[in-house]
Amino acid sequence: MEGEEMLLVNDISKSFGGIQAVKDVNLEVKKGEIVGLIGPNGAGKTTLFNMISLFLSSSKGGVQFLGENISRETPERVVEKGLLRTFQTPVGFPKLTVLENLMVVPKQKGEGIFSTFLKRKSIVQHERENYYKVCALLEQFNLFQKRNELAENLSAAELKLLELCRQLMANPKIMLLDEPASGVNPVMLDKMVEHILRLREEGMTFLVIDHNLGFIYRICDRIYCLANGELIASGTPEEISNNERVKSVYLGVN
Ligand code: ATP
Repeated sequence: MEGEEMLLVNDISKSFGGIQAVKDVNLEVKKGEIVGLIGPNGAGKTTLFNMISLFLSSSKGGVQFLGENISRETPERVVEKGLLRTFQTPVGFPKLTVLENLMVVPKQKGEGIFSTFLKRKSIVQHERENYYKVCALLEQFNLFQKRNELAENLSAAELKLLELCRQLMANPKIMLLDEPASGVNPVMLDKMVEHILRLREEGMTFLVIDHNLGFIYRICDRIYCLANGELIASGTPEEISNNERVKSVYLGVN
């Protein structure tokens, strides 16, 4: 149901030694929303993503996904439940083709985020059902022509799209995107916007980190701004773009 709470981050904190990377952050994402997470370098955005996806344990606080406390789950279980995330640097397999990247699975449980949806199967499998799903996905993302190219030969934007496809193979309910626009040229950025908005039309929910505010303002319904590990503002793109605190800490305007 639209408007239903999908992700709830409760008072979460993380310290690394003496560094308080994230401090008492509360955040929510409703089904069908695209929510942005912005902030200057070192603000704590990726640390927050790492805690939500359980790649990192929190020092305090917890995460609810679809009404269930997932704080004690493993990253693999969270993926199975439908919470998927990308990384700033795509984590695919550069020496495999685009097609293989979507059909591949690490041998051991826990070797990577893809282990859950193809685990217990061989490294590269050509199950017909899967193959058709991969081809349809590549068509949708204009990557079908590149299906036999090695991933290492793709542009930054194409790699980001491949990363999205890989997530979609796991049937996510929510996608956490870490800097999907970085290194993406303006033409491809328009495509990225189109793809994300189309996926949302089809029912997807997103939490998106990016430094490109133009991109964030184009796609997001609401935005949270972090600085020094703390939430300093939240609101619509219009509210955030006019927020004096955001301007001063994030844009360097005094
Ligand atoms: P960027 O936009 O540059 O990616 P960010 O907002 O994602 O930054 P984080 O990467 O979450 O910020 O880092 C927040 C703070 O925590 C920084 O001071 C960083 O140096 C520190 N930090 C992050 N990970 C670790 C770690 N594993 N060990 C020690 N300090 C860390």
